[in-house]
Amino acid sequence: MLEIQNIHKSFGETTVLSGVDLQIGKGDVVVVLGPSGSGKTTLLRCINFLEKADKGEAIFGDIQVDLHQASKKQIQAIRKRTAFVFQNYNLFNNKTVLENVTEGLIIGRKIPKEKAIEIAKNALNKVELEDKYTAYPAELSGGQQQRVGIARAVALSPDIILFDEPTSALDPELVGEVLEVMKTIAKEGTTMLVVTHEMSFAKDVANKVVFMDGGVVVEEGPPKEFFENPKEERTRKFLRRVL
Ligand code: ADP
Repeated sequence: MLEIQNIHKSFGETTVLSGVDLQIGKGDVVVVLGPSGSGKTTLLRCINFLEKADKGEAIFGDIQVDLHQASKKQIQAIRKRTAFVFQNYNLFNNKTVLENVTEGLIIGRKIPKEKAIEIAKNALNKVELEDKYTAYPAELSGGQQQRVGIARAVALSPDIILFDEPTSALDPELVGEVLEVMKTIAKEGTTMLVVTHEMSFAKDVANKVVFMDGGVVVEEGPPKEFFENPKEERTRKFLRRVL
């Protein structure tokens, strides 16, 4: 489904990614773990061209692109196949919940309005917001706002959804409802690449865990193996701190 090869990225003097490879199969839920500042978010943003990598390749099904020199057309093609869920939701505050979800369908995907509304309602029902179509983001809790963010991604029917720390802006009591929704869509076979600090999600939902530190992948594997029998000392040290 998606293969990333040798991504490099620096911001000025700071090297953030030093040659990251990643393979994601159809239906995979890949969780990226690692200490703060290890480059996880930058990796996700480079895959979706929210940041321009200094070097690297992405093979996305039948599309192969140079992440540093992709053409506008290639960027559009990859963006069509991906959706991004942001840490801070990134909703339009002057639009209703329903409009937030239909916007990308109507403007980006050129889907007729009636059809877009139908798709958006289905996605909102999936995240249990069927009673909030006409609400504005400011009238919702953080957990509800992030569920709108997830519905917006689901509605686009992308090949893969990229989640950038989707629960880290939430009050602790609201984290569970968002993780539940993510678990539901994972179970439906959605391919997901998730940066998170939620170890329970990595353990229960992921089929692959990727541990990054200092801009490289230190270790990766199935969650059971990763948590119960980590091979690298850096991984063990990280797990001792977070578990
Ligand atoms: P993580 O998601 O693992 O916490 P990030 O990818 O957010 O790590 O950040 C890795 C490093 O890159 C940090 O040192 C951060 O300060 C730096 N960084 C991220 N984005 C930018 C940016 N736009 N400009 C400058 N430095 C950045």
